[in-house]
Amino acid sequence: MLPLVDPKASIEQDYPDYLQALQDAHFKGEIETSYASRLAVATDNSVYQRLPQAVVFPTDLDDLQLLGRLTQTYSGVRFSARGGGTGTNGQSLTDGLVVDLSRHMHQILEFNPEERWVRVQAGVVKDQLNDFLRPYGFFFAPDLSTSNRATIGGMINTDASGQGSLVYGKTSDHVLALRSVLADGTLLDTAPLSLEQARERANQPDAIGRVVAQVLSSCEQKREQILAKFPRLNRFLTGYDLEHVFDTAMQQFDLSRVITGSEGSLAFVAEAKLNVTPIARFKTLINVKYDSFESALRHAPAMVAAEATSVETVDSKVLNLAREDIIWHSVKSLIEDVPGKDLQGLNMVEYNAEAEQDMHDKITGLVAMLDDCIATGQSGVIGYQLTSDNGDIGKIYAMRKKAVGLLGKTKGSKKPIAFAEDTAVPPEKLADFIMEFRALLDAKGLQYGMFGHVDAGVLHVRPALDLCDPLQEMLMAEISDQVVALVAKYGGLMWGEHGKGYRSEYGPAFFGEELFTELRKIKSAFDPHNRMNPGKICTPYDSKEVLVKVSDTKRASYDRQIPLKVREAFEPAMSCNGNGLCFNYDTTSPMCPSSKITRDRRHSPKGRAGLMREWLRLLSKQGSDAHKLESKGQRYSFTRRLYNSWQKDNEQDFSHQVMEAMDGCLACKACASQCPVNVDVPGFRARFLNLYYGRYARPFKDYLVANVEKMAPQLAKAPRLVNGLMTLGEWPLRKWVGYVDAPKLSFPTLAWRLDKEVQAFDLQVLKSLNPAQLAKRVLIVQDPFTSFYEAELIEDLVRLVRKLGLHPVLLPFKPNGKPQHVKGFLKEFAATAANSAAFFNQLTELNIPLIGVDPSLVLCYRDEYQKALGATRGDFRVQLVHEWLADVALPDVPANASPSFALFGHCTEKTALPASEKQWQQIFTRLGASLTPVSVGCCGMAGTYGHEVSHLEDSKGIFNLSWQQALARYDANQVLATGYSCRSQTARLQGYKPRHPLQAVLSLLEEK
Ligand SMILES: Cc1cc2nc3c(=O)[nH]c(=O)nc-3n(C[C@H](O)[C@H](O)[C@H](O)COP(=O)(O)OP(=O)(O)OC[C@H]3O[C@@H](n4cnc5c(N)ncnc54)[C@H](O)[C@@H]3O)c2cc1C
Ligand code: SF4
Ligand code: SF4
Repeated sequence: MLPLVDPKASIEQDYPDYLQALQDAHFKGEIETSYASRLAVATDNSVYQRLPQAVVFPTDLDDLQLLGRLTQTYSGVRFSARGGGTGTNGQSLTDGLVVDLSRHMHQILEFNPEERWVRVQAGVVKDQLNDFLRPYGFFFAPDLSTSNRATIGGMINTDASGQGSLVYGKTSDHVLALRSVLADGTLLDTAPLSLEQARERANQPDAIGRVVAQVLSSCEQKREQILAKFPRLNRFLTGYDLEHVFDTAMQQFDLSRVITGSEGSLAFVAEAKLNVTPIARFKTLINVKYDSFESALRHAPAMVAAEATSVETVDSKVLNLAREDIIWHSVKSLIEDVPGKDLQGLNMVEYNAEAEQDMHDKITGLVAMLDDCIATGQSGVIGYQLTSDNGDIGKIYAMRKKAVGLLGKTKGSKKPIAFAEDTAVPPEKLADFIMEFRALLDAKGLQYGMFGHVDAGVLHVRPALDLCDPLQEMLMAEISDQVVALVAKYGGLMWGEHGKGYRSEYGPAFFGEELFTELRKIKSAFDPHNRMNPGKICTPYDSKEVLVKVSDTKRASYDRQIPLKVREAFEPAMSCNGNGLCFNYDTTSPMCPSSKITRDRRHSPKGRAGLMREWLRLLSKQGSDAHKLESKGQRYSFTRRLYNSWQKDNEQDFSHQVMEAMDGCLACKACASQCPVNVDVPGFRARFLNLYYGRYARPFKDYLVANVEKMAPQLAKAPRLVNGLMTLGEWPLRKWVGYVDAPKLSFPTLAWRLDKEVQAFDLQVLKSLNPAQLAKRVLIVQDPFTSFYEAELIEDLVRLVRKLGLHPVLLPFKPNGKPQHVKGFLKEFAATAANSAAFFNQLTELNIPLIGVDPSLVLCYRDEYQKALGATRGDFRVQLVHEWLADVALPDVPANASPSFALFGHCTEKTALPASEKQWQQIFTRLGASLTPVSVGCCGMAGTYGHEVSHLEDSKGIFNLSWQQALARYDANQVLATGYSCRSQTARLQGYKPRHPLQAVLSLLEEK
């Protein structure tokens, strides 16, 4: 039986009193101390894990200052600022207090297009800023792969950069002014000052005077050593940028330069004034294909010499992983194979220009060079493809940006990990450096994939290690030391892009004692008591506290406490590597609606996977094994479960916190295909619910949902009576069951609408048909929602089949089981699935298409059935309408009509079958109509989620994120939606029910 799971993680002294004082002083943001909230920020994309005491979410500058001011009374409090939490080296991890600026401080405050600057709060996401600037023709130029979730505060503090950095620079190159808060709450405004002004400021007897004086002194007195030590690279070395505090003439002083790249170790950045760059009018991307990765690397300098704006590269390992991912669907026509050649490396070469002629000249030169290489077999070039379409260029970069995540997909216990992944060397030395780096990794027999910004000499590599094996953990530290030495040999940096974090231990050796002492003095001036992200970059001058180290506690030291069998059984939760792609800010992306609407990291795939892992670990520590509990299937008696539930508020059970996070999940399955390592939350969520409700009583609504497929056929026998009762019972349903806006049964019913011929399913009769007769048959698979609540849709499907000259046969209704799965009734689901699979399998030999209408139910046959039944699932295949229509001959195109429609695809369908929208488009084109797929996220209904009172507000909120505005752009009769949930949600919130595309197809055929 599932035991009570006690995390035993109390909060350290000082913090409870401090947090209470914070509340008493009217801190406006949230203060979260639950174990789940702390865990959600205990990891980032690094291998480290550190549990903070609490997380606070400031709403504004006053909140930030209050945090600092109270430390005068509560001196033991330590902070770590956090944005997107995408650091790859544990930069935002702390055992103190996490100050998360991403939840509330995400406003764009001011924009001045004439002077080309924008002022933003630190929690603004980089893509959010660029989406805002795009209509004005500007963008914030420093780019990074995590642009859809990394914040400006995080970018400033890691001095982020990426693709195009040769031309567009690093974040520090675009910071015009900062508004920051020191550890004691002092407000610090920084912007360039004349030397005279700086000296004046340094003389003032306050905290800021102290800071300015120290930075002036360090940078003036040590100028020579600084210039000698700091590498002349396009990338910065995180730590304090002593070199650029002054301009080259030593006449201008800018304190912002020290804060930029300081990894939260000096101050909270609250706001930033940033320089914005005009978007180039013309862009072209040339994908140059090579016979080897080395060829691609060695050829890159020629591209830079040919005035490319940026040159990015990926090796064959990354390319092959991309080929297996959903993303390949969007780029495959842009990176086609070269017949008879083996594509092993790719350079993505971008040109930007303001004038068409300029672009033409540049491209012509490069193309001539590439043609020559191909003709003479030089430089390993085997082909190239060129595109000037901004959408296509974006798709290629989306693939490139997903590369790190894709590497995580490697099968087996060894996973690619970040620790030496952003080395930078002078670009002309990159190829030699990489060859030596590869030799180092090959000598240890390690697997790895490589890609990077070859123009800037930056290489990304993540060797695959199993850190649950203590020996491999030691190997990681060993390789890390060796790479540091190798990089030094080539005159480069170990941290060329992703900051230092736990690599801070290398700081003293890198800077040398003299300069490192200056860094420590600067830290003392800003943060004398080591409260800001202690252990990162450096400690105050006279402090005895230590720096964080590569060998510090890793997530693996927790993971390895979970028995191997359990880890394997719950692989999707274990494999999350924290890259944060599931925090995607874009409201038109299907990725995680619950995360978007709550802005709560617990309610993201990463949050849920992390909670699940900890739950498994705590269970193991208590001598319980989740996998065995599942197989035994034991449950407490009904009365005991009731009692346990009644006791809930009086006990500390971590399972409730996990339950809260799982309950917020819509089971939309976007994570299962959009996450680069396919972390399938609904899969482990259902298993968790199954175990949780072995200990606690289920709410009544769960039984209603799980039994909807049994009840619907019975209720449909008296639809008007049932609908009447439902109307009368709306209030009690809402109040006592927690269910709202229950759908009404169809009247007339499906049985009433269809003639006997369609309904006369008889297997023996079908078996007796000859091949020609069989070829004319189409079997319609019923589902509970369309058959009983949208019977007109099935009626239209029948008419469509007939219109196409075929004979529809309605299969008897067989429960699908999806509602049971969603609610975690796994035993019942397995029985339902076995039953339906047996039924459908006996039909496969007839070789007649089986057609289902609702994507989420049809896709359940493919995924959840496979997982539950394994080999016994059999080979039956239910097609969605568009999959079937794709192969059916359609009548001739009508001559004079060209109606246009808008397709709102169901998110499970769009993510699991990325070609679905295109296939629908092709079907409409064949009928002389146009269909535009509309970019929207989730509609917020997701089966029964939107009907549950506890989710009602979030459900409506999710709809408003993207559907509401998108629907407003079209007439109701243009809008087509493939999901039953989406149609119901639109009917409820927009006042009309969109049609399914098959109904539009039917009307087009009937108009003919
Ligand atoms: C898959 C992947 C790809 C990546 N690619 C790139 C890339 O191309 N280029 C690149 O530069 N980086 C890259 N990174 C690293 C990372 O995304 C960047 O460092 C990013 O700038 C971090 O932003 P964030 O908002 O997630 O910050 P966090 O990770 O939350 O924090 C990073 C650091 O900034 C500090 N911080 C955050 N906000 C504030 C604030 N308001 N005030 C003070 N300190 C603050 C934190 O304390 C921490 O030290 C990548 C990471 C991943 C996982
Ligand atoms: S769930 Fe997937 S996308 Fe989210 S952090 Fe984990 S690996 Fe990345
Ligand atoms: S199923 Fe949907 S709501 Fe749930 S975690 Fe995955 S993406 Fe988020």
